[in-house]
Amino acid sequence: MKTITFYAPGVKRFETTEFAQENHFSFIPISITGTHCVLDCDHCKGQLLKHMKPASNPESLFQTCTDLANKNAKGVLISGGCDSGGKVPLGDYYEQIHNVKKKLGLKVVVHTGIVDDEMAKGLKYCNVDSALIDIIGHNQTIKDVYHTDVTIKDYDKSLYYLNKHVVPAVPHIVIGLDYGRLIGEYAALKMISKYKIKSLVLVILTSLMNTPMQDVVPPSIDDVEKVFSRAGDIMTESPIILGCARPMGEYKIKVDRLAVDYGFDGIAFSDGIVSYAREKEYKPIFTENMLWRYIENDSVSASFGLAVDEYLANTLIPDHPNYGHILRLYTYRDHCAILGRFQDAETEVNLSECERLGIEVNRRITGGGTIIMGCSQLGVAIIIPPGNTNGSRYSANSFFTKKVFEDYSRGIIGALSLLGIQSEFVLKNDILVGGKKIAGLAACVQENGNALFHASIILDIDTRLMTRVLRTPIEKISDKKNKEVDDRLTTINRESKEKITINRLKRYLKMSFENAFQMKLHDMPLTDYEITAIKALERKRYLTNKWIYQKSLIPSETTVIRRKTRAGMVNIHISVLNNIIKDVIITGDFFSTTRFISTLERKLKWKVIEREIISKVIKDVWLFCRDSISGLTPEILTDCILEVGNSPRNVTETSQENKRLKIEEFRN
Ligand code: SF4
Repeated sequence: MKTITFYAPGVKRFETTEFAQENHFSFIPISITGTHCVLDCDHCKGQLLKHMKPASNPESLFQTCTDLANKNAKGVLISGGCDSGGKVPLGDYYEQIHNVKKKLGLKVVVHTGIVDDEMAKGLKYCNVDSALIDIIGHNQTIKDVYHTDVTIKDYDKSLYYLNKHVVPAVPHIVIGLDYGRLIGEYAALKMISKYKIKSLVLVILTSLMNTPMQDVVPPSIDDVEKVFSRAGDIMTESPIILGCARPMGEYKIKVDRLAVDYGFDGIAFSDGIVSYAREKEYKPIFTENMLWRYIENDSVSASFGLAVDEYLANTLIPDHPNYGHILRLYTYRDHCAILGRFQDAETEVNLSECERLGIEVNRRITGGGTIIMGCSQLGVAIIIPPGNTNGSRYSANSFFTKKVFEDYSRGIIGALSLLGIQSEFVLKNDILVGGKKIAGLAACVQENGNALFHASIILDIDTRLMTRVLRTPIEKISDKKNKEVDDRLTTINRESKEKITINRLKRYLKMSFENAFQMKLHDMPLTDYEITAIKALERKRYLTNKWIYQKSLIPSETTVIRRKTRAGMVNIHISVLNNIIKDVIITGDFFSTTRFISTLERKLKWKVIEREIISKVIKDVWLFCRDSISGLTPEILTDCILEVGNSPRNVTETSQENKRLKIEEFRN
């Protein structure tokens, strides 16, 4: 029976057969040029380098590898940006790469770019395990996408020199590299077929955000099939692998099936394809589990901590070179009040008390209610790439379902269970122990399709402080058995028989998440590059009143409709003149997207408050945006707005106009 290898998405653009047989957990990518790349290719713009460990001189490369070997790493991918001649500048590094192989015993895979005689000799001396090289088969593509004057002859010669010096070559072809068109792929296959190679890796152009190709449509399935078919015909002696870099959703399912149909030797694992391979009478072989990046930050300020999560959610890319998800566990330095994305600061928090007590107030990008955080409350953030549960990009609708909150809270429930505490997930976003809240959950979806899942786990809490700082709306309390905070909240240390420390809780969470998601966590702290970018984001957003208090300038004369719904509290602040909506602002602890709420508010302005009109506006926004306020129907929202009709307030004073303009200004 023929076998087919399924391997976890590890070093995504650089798969080789031996990665498939190795422990992905131990393979670390290193860039010898940091984030610098002269070529700045249209499909990448150097983004692949951002997530590699920098080692910008031979000594630091050896030191980095020594540190990794001491942490039980098994191998390294040595990569970097290219010079203008399309080469990764490895020239000064041969001696140290040789030492990494010989003295540290690490497996070494090298990303080369264009190879000449001297480089091939150097790589032979290093005794590298594989030389990875992207092969392009059309001169115009090289010019247009890679912006260099090298030609297909240089790629041909690269393979020649690698063969001449018996360096194990693993050529890659990016199908559709020329802005989605099939141009040089057959020529690339023909070129590769002349040489002895270790394996061929086929990947498919995947649009990355913030590149000139971000809106490019990937090659058609028919085109992909043509390349697969030709590869199968030509590459009869060498293994063919379908790499991780391929578009998601239906497209991926079709492509994976084609790879099975054309008898590929390996496929970067994806849901659903294993049973298909079995149906086709292949024997599947599985490799190591999925890898998640793990980050731990203790005692950070609220502004920095919140900026970290947003930065990570904005930058985790679908063909990230190393990690599927990111798990971050963190505590805050001092007590702070963190508002949900759509809440009004003045409504939720006693701001003067915060000022008196020196408590920082800030706002996160995820929805939900206000929480008090500090050194005795553990924050959990998980960055989830698009398509993780259903193969397509999340919308607020699909993401904020019970299933997804339930899925990602499994790690927390498992950790509590290890501590002897039985808990359960309860709609809409709580984890309860005996009916009392021990952790709250929140989430949002970013424009790039990545989702951010947040949880705050209460190890201990100062309930007196909490009641002084938070203004708990009476509507939220009314459906609880007891109005006292102590009776609605519990803590790990109240429930546990022994004193639990934050560090022990973290350890159990890591174990539990690894179990729940069948993956390995790899400790990879924030790099200097990332910290610089995060600090810039912190300054731009989380240290500004514009972000923190953005909805606090609601004119006091407006009518406020407050409704407790299945989606959470929905507050509609509305100014009406002659039954026409002059201004409307929607706040609350619900889950939605900024785009959806802004569109809704904009479309409602200057509309007459009549059921037919308001209902149509709301339904249109629901349809147009594809997102929603999770758990709320257009009908309920329409009812809320129509309530204003019973007690309209005309707001005509100039001062109110000024306030309205100020709100607009804050929005922009
Ligand atoms: S040469 Fe490599 S790292 Fe540089 S932009 Fe192109 S693909 Fe990215």
